[in-house]
Amino acid sequence: MNRFTTRFAPSPTGWLHLGHAYAALFAAERGRAGRFLIRLEDLDLTRARPEYEAGIFEDLAWLGLSWEEPLIRQSEHGTVYRAGLDRLDSLGLLYPCFCTRKEIQLEIAQAGNAPHGPDGPLYPGTCRSLSQEERAERMASGISYALRLDVGRALTRVEGPLMWTDRAHGRQVADPTIFGDVVLARKDTPASYHLAVVLDDARQGVTLVTRGEDLLPATHLHRLLIELLGLPVPEWEHHRLILDENGRRLAKRDDARSLRTLRQQGWTPERVRRELGI
Ligand code: GLU
Repeated sequence: MNRFTTRFAPSPTGWLHLGHAYAALFAAERGRAGRFLIRLEDLDLTRARPEYEAGIFEDLAWLGLSWEEPLIRQSEHGTVYRAGLDRLDSLGLLYPCFCTRKEIQLEIAQAGNAPHGPDGPLYPGTCRSLSQEERAERMASGISYALRLDVGRALTRVEGPLMWTDRAHGRQVADPTIFGDVVLARKDTPASYHLAVVLDDARQGVTLVTRGEDLLPATHLHRLLIELLGLPVPEWEHHRLILDENGRRLAKRDDARSLRTLRQQGWTPERVRRELGI
């Protein structure tokens, strides 16, 4: 049996539901002969709440899971993300973007056939071509800006096609351009999900990243970030999603499916496993 280090990385922005239970049990099972870690992805400070964090621990313990302490809370590790950004910046791969959401939408609408990625239309690259003087001037004016990855330039920094092994989907060739020039940090967010997840998986020694199939596209980008940051390459396993009776994936707003509600209705951890087909 493989001695993988795996993790379950929930965001404390709502109650856990059956989909989370599946992801957590899946990760714990894959890490059974090795290590199983928990990471709280709480960088969205406007939505993360202590009661949701407490709820996560309660639900996971109820499911019969245990994990290594101390666990990582992303909000406590700003310096790690800063160092990652500095490294990308020193390679000349970041640029400040001053566009508002509205301006981006307008530009995309005017362009007509704008290319789309997994999260919608791609950023048209407006701020990529600003001169150093324009950048300095705007930054000095105090307006807020995001840091974007110049993905075209980033690809010139890596050799050959980037591959990854997905234990559910086979060998994959990464196409990191599908998200365009993604935002890696904002004024109030020290790191976007994409940057934080690769840095954290690496420093936690995660060797098998398990998560839902909805995040498979993100791995195309993660594989590039891993290469640029010189991090070890883990394996991935993107597992099936738990759907509701209408075939839609469960969302945090579906409180009826939250584990705490099911528990109050008398569900047992065994019933959860049965319903999930585990
Ligand atoms: N915090 C992310 C989520 O809840 C975790 C994604 C991942 O496992 O990489 O969807």
